[in-house]
Amino acid sequence: VTIIMRGKPVVERLYLEMESLKQEHPALQERQAALATLAVGDLSAANSYRTSIECSCVRAGIAHLPIDLPQQTSGEVLGRTIASLNNNQEVSGILVFMPLPERISRRVVLGTLSPFKDVDGITPESQGRLRLDLAGLRPSCPLGGVEILDFYGIEPSAKDVVVVGRSPVVGGPLSTMLMHRDATVTLAHRRTSGLAELCRGASIVALAAGSPGLLTNDMVTPETVVLDFGANMVEGKIRGDAERGALEGYVAALSPVPGGTGPATAAVLVRNVLFAALASASGSLDVLPRAGTERRSSPVANSVTSSS
Ligand code: ADP
Repeated sequence: VTIIMRGKPVVERLYLEMESLKQEHPALQERQAALATLAVGDLSAANSYRTSIECSCVRAGIAHLPIDLPQQTSGEVLGRTIASLNNNQEVSGILVFMPLPERISRRVVLGTLSPFKDVDGITPESQGRLRLDLAGLRPSCPLGGVEILDFYGIEPSAKDVVVVGRSPVVGGPLSTMLMHRDATVTLAHRRTSGLAELCRGASIVALAAGSPGLLTNDMVTPETVVLDFGANMVEGKIRGDAERGALEGYVAALSPVPGGTGPATAAVLVRNVLFAALASASGSLDVLPRAGTERRSSPVANSVTSSS
């Protein structure tokens, strides 16, 4: 039978941790942490994510400040908006929804956003800290995936892992996190040849390709653990990158879409807002955990038989 790695219990654990984090740190009690979410233009794709962020903020006792800039906003105005949020002491974290309109270079965001408020770990400072295994704010989506693996007792150490997709917010940082967790990581992408064979040889296949039904039965074995970050709209329904119908009942474990990595992402993002508030309060990013690297105990350890 396939273990369905649902996000829900992982999320519950994250909220419990956030509660203790608040109790441990007076700085988090003195001032309510706040997350600004910034969207440029119509972002129907981001709207459901924003709704779930909103719910997560409420639950964590964090203020949510949604900001919408018109589609024709210039890079300069976006840069100034981010700069003023950087300087706003009421704002602990800033999330800018991607993709931006094509006219605006990503560099506007990457170069302006304060690393202290970079709750999605996109800045060069955050990405460098992750690569160098230093404390810092990590991209929430891949970190949510690592939290799921830890929760279900799936140990990446010494395993062959294939990550499909190399984007800077999902596949790229996930491969780095799992590398730091002593996995042997292959980072596959659109130009990779022999993907099926690569995936078949892996213990863990992580999907971050944005391609519905990409992972089919012939690309996995009964030992495969599938971590699915896909969030594709197909006929009005959200679908992952795995062909779930075919894989469920066949592979060792899989994270469902919806209900898997998505909820974990939102909870990790909100925890990042608390982390960001802590970093700002202490004036240093070095007070943060080396999240994604430190192994976390599993309440359900041994429920997934590690393939020998
Ligand atoms: P996300 O934000 O979910 O990571 P992106 O669209 O930014 O998604 O990136 C998609 C990534 O997935 C790219 O690195 C691309 O090369 C990879 N990719 C997309 N389709 C395929 C495919 N069919 N096979 C392998 N890799 C793919």
